[in-house]
Amino acid sequence: MLRTHTCGELRRAHIGQSVTLTGWVQRSRDRGGVLWIDLRDRYGITQLVFNGSKTESALREQARSLGREFVIQASGVVVERGGKNEKHSTGDIEIKVENFTVLNSSKTPPFTIEDNTDGGIELRMKYRYLDLRRSLVRDRLLLRNQLTRQTRAYFESHNFIEVETPALIRSTPEGARDFVVPSRINPGEFYALPQSPQLFKQLLMVAGFDCYFQIVKCFRDEDLRADRQPEFTQIDCEMAFVTQEDVLAMFEGLIRHLFTTVKNKELPEIPRMTYSDAMRLYGTDKPDIRFSMQFVELNEEVKGRGFRVFDEAELVVGFCAPGCATFNRSQLDKLAAFLKKHEIGVHGLVWAHYTMDGVWKSSVDKFYPEDTVKTWLEKCGANPGDLLLILSGTADKTRKALGELRLLIGEQLGFRDKNTFSALWVVDFPLLEWSEETGRYLAMHHPFTLPKREDLPMLDTDPGKVRANAYDLVINGTEIGGGSLRIHDRQTQELIFKRLGLTEEEAQKQFGFLLEAFEYGAPPHGGIALGFDRLCSLFAGVDSIRDVIAFPKNNSGRDTMTDSPSTISDERLAELAISLVPKR
Ligand code: ASP
Repeated sequence: MLRTHTCGELRRAHIGQSVTLTGWVQRSRDRGGVLWIDLRDRYGITQLVFNGSKTESALREQARSLGREFVIQASGVVVERGGKNEKHSTGDIEIKVENFTVLNSSKTPPFTIEDNTDGGIELRMKYRYLDLRRSLVRDRLLLRNQLTRQTRAYFESHNFIEVETPALIRSTPEGARDFVVPSRINPGEFYALPQSPQLFKQLLMVAGFDCYFQIVKCFRDEDLRADRQPEFTQIDCEMAFVTQEDVLAMFEGLIRHLFTTVKNKELPEIPRMTYSDAMRLYGTDKPDIRFSMQFVELNEEVKGRGFRVFDEAELVVGFCAPGCATFNRSQLDKLAAFLKKHEIGVHGLVWAHYTMDGVWKSSVDKFYPEDTVKTWLEKCGANPGDLLLILSGTADKTRKALGELRLLIGEQLGFRDKNTFSALWVVDFPLLEWSEETGRYLAMHHPFTLPKREDLPMLDTDPGKVRANAYDLVINGTEIGGGSLRIHDRQTQELIFKRLGLTEEEAQKQFGFLLEAFEYGAPPHGGIALGFDRLCSLFAGVDSIRDVIAFPKNNSGRDTMTDSPSTISDERLAELAISLVPKR
């Protein structure tokens, strides 16, 4: 190699050795008689020093011309450093340079290659290869790499087989829109890019592979709100001959293995909560259980006292915010303003508090005497100093809005610390969910999910009540993964397709291969997919998955570095038998 050591390697023990380093010029400091250069590579930073006698001043003079991000090779002797630099692992030493070669020059980078860079997001994305030189960004990718390795190590030790599934497929609906790819040799026909390898992994179970995993790219042509990327990575898994408990135990094992090996943290056993409890107690199917503040329903306590807002509401529900009784008018107004964003169908915020001096008071004192307010607070388990926040309206929307409020207060109270981790399995999801948009039931997870056998009779009478053998892994209020046991017999699968509004012909056309496979000895099976980018961002303590992807797309799905998507030539369009209509 062009170097004897990396820029992160040399220590006091190397003092006196002749070494050659290669790397990028991070910065230089010039004191006339002495010039220092910080040399950087993937492994760290080592200080080069150009000092000494007149004969060496020529070398120093040449080194003065080295600009930021020049690539150089420098040889010299490791010497003890006068002022130690605690920030770098190589901070005890420096290299007294005897000669150097410029391997490549560099234009002045458009932003500083520092943790605290002066470059805005757009600029950094356009020059992502420079952004990736920043230690902060580099370290996130190194973390990602550790997670990949440990994932493979875990599966290896549990007999899983890594199988690649195709990227050009027939569309397998999972609730999003597919990206499509025209086929030149089959003009007018299109492949879809997989939203996930769902059906292939199920077919691998039919094929007898028993335990499969893949770290795989998935593609969904969705609106890119809320930190989504059009292409993202899943740890995709499937197992045969398993119960739901087996699947949960296996992937709980994976998550705990990753926490121990990569984060050096012991994750306690992951508790389970049913979907209906999660909605009832936290107003969301992905509760952040780093803190309690569970909902308490107050219908019985509040109705019939002449307060119309509560009397007319389907649900009156609240939670206690510990130590918040001291909230003043403006703090409460801010909460109300925040709620405006979420409160479609939800009435205004009502509060009640229990002060440190034992006073029970509410914002609706006109309708409810102190004694009644006391019963509310007592039902919520309030301690002196607590504040009860109450919302009312239609059940679903009220719970959802209160859930948002709970997160806001949790954040304000410092309960959502990025270095504290609480994982949760949410189980027993509904099989179907009503879609206002299409006016019918859709699969909540996907159409291949196995309904709970005991709920099947309700499929015709009360479809929304049928539960599925479906589960989500939630960490710190973020959905990290989801999966289910699958249907593995033709009859049940046909029944579900029918319930989802597919005619027999449509089902046959789209899923004939699956239905047929189920007639050739399909074993019971189930699996899960974990959002790998999301997992990495959780481990890295960053808010966006973009920060843990080497070359992400921006909010409009564009890669500004390569400038894609882009148009293609008329010749290529003709070859693909495609004609474009003018943009709407
Ligand atoms: N294919 C599903 C998804 O991508 C996960 C699964 O059911 O295994 O959400």
